Amino acid sequence: MSIVFCQACGKKISDKVTLCGHCGFQRGEVSDEQMAIFKQRKARDRIYRLNMATYAVISFFVAGFGWYWWETSGYTQPSSSGPFFVMALSAAAYVVVRGFLFQAKRQLRILRQPTP
Ligand SMILES: [Zn+2]
Repeated sequence: MSIVFCQACGKKISDKVTLCGHCGFQRGEVSDEQMAIFKQRKARDRIYRLNMATYAVISFFVAGFGWYWWETSGYTQPSSSGPFFVMALSAAAYVVVRGFLFQAKRQLRILRQPTP
């Protein structure tokens, strides 16, 4: 048994397995067209997951804001730093997730271009 690199995700896999355990890519004889379709599917999956992450991050922000509202009894009392921490963290996470999403969408656009 030896270690080879997956053609699709580039991670190490055994040469005895036909399916990559990391990304599910089937090793062996693959045409460029199959490879392109596979990569597009991976990119779409990634965009889908990143969109889900965006919604999760927005929910956290809203939760932080709700915490602030609750703790200040409708903006009448001073708040602890907890809600600000949650809001700042989710705002930072939002920027990061959107950055990844931007990259993933650009990658998919490149993959969709017909190869000359
Ligand atoms: Zn793989």
